[in-house]
Amino acid sequence: MIIIYLCIFFLGASVASFLNATLYRIDKKYKYPEIITKNSHCEKCKRQLNWIELFPIFGYILIRGKCSSCGNKIPLYYPLSEMFLGISFLLFYLYTTPLIYILVILFLFILSYYDNIYMAVSKNMVHIFLVLCCLIFLINPNIYNLIAPLVLSVILIVVNLFKKSFGMGDILVLGGLGIILEYSQFLILFWGGIIFALLYSLSLVLFKKINIKKAKVPMIPFFSLAFLVSIFWGDILFNSLLKFLGM
Ligand SMILES: [Zn+2]
Repeated sequence: MIIIYLCIFFLGASVASFLNATLYRIDKKYKYPEIITKNSHCEKCKRQLNWIELFPIFGYILIRGKCSSCGNKIPLYYPLSEMFLGISFLLFYLYTTPLIYILVILFLFILSYYDNIYMAVSKNMVHIFLVLCCLIFLINPNIYNLIAPLVLSVILIVVNLFKKSFGMGDILVLGGLGIILEYSQFLILFWGGIIFALLYSLSLVLFKKINIKKAKVPMIPFFSLAFLVSIFWGDILFNSLLKFLGM
């Protein structure tokens, strides 16, 4: 049994690793077929990476996050994103959640990649994402699911008029996720994402001594993480929170 779990986890992690490499190559304007066939190399010294270094998550741990020839640091984002997709695949295997949600997760994965690098996401991709969310909503429509994301989007847009805190991309992605979740799950998604991002900013301030005002973080990776939590445990978390608050 444990072998099946491990295989599924590494399937997700490997898909993540492949997606990261492909997105990187698209970004660097590699031409077909190099986008798929070329071996990965160190960004700085251009040395080709070997099998062990390319192995998801463990490769990063074995080389301690640095290129073994030139010492160039490899962003922690890569192993974390591999872990994210590995755990997502495993959870989808363990729980009976509609498989279409894995498409949402993959989309969030791609959006997170760009948000992490550019602090922005492409409008076209957000539009496709919104259509996907609408489709999922229409398969099993529940009008009540629309209220919370609509109200929240309006609030965020109004807040943005006074002080720019959320990008329009973030708001649209949140809205899209909101319509495919129940309102309890959506609240967990929203506040979970904010809390994850705050914890990350705090760690930047504490460990990297970055000024709190400069500690700008991309939101979509944190909303993706919170989405994963909310589809599997949003209801349970929400109910325990209500109980805790005595409601
Ligand atoms: Zn190197």
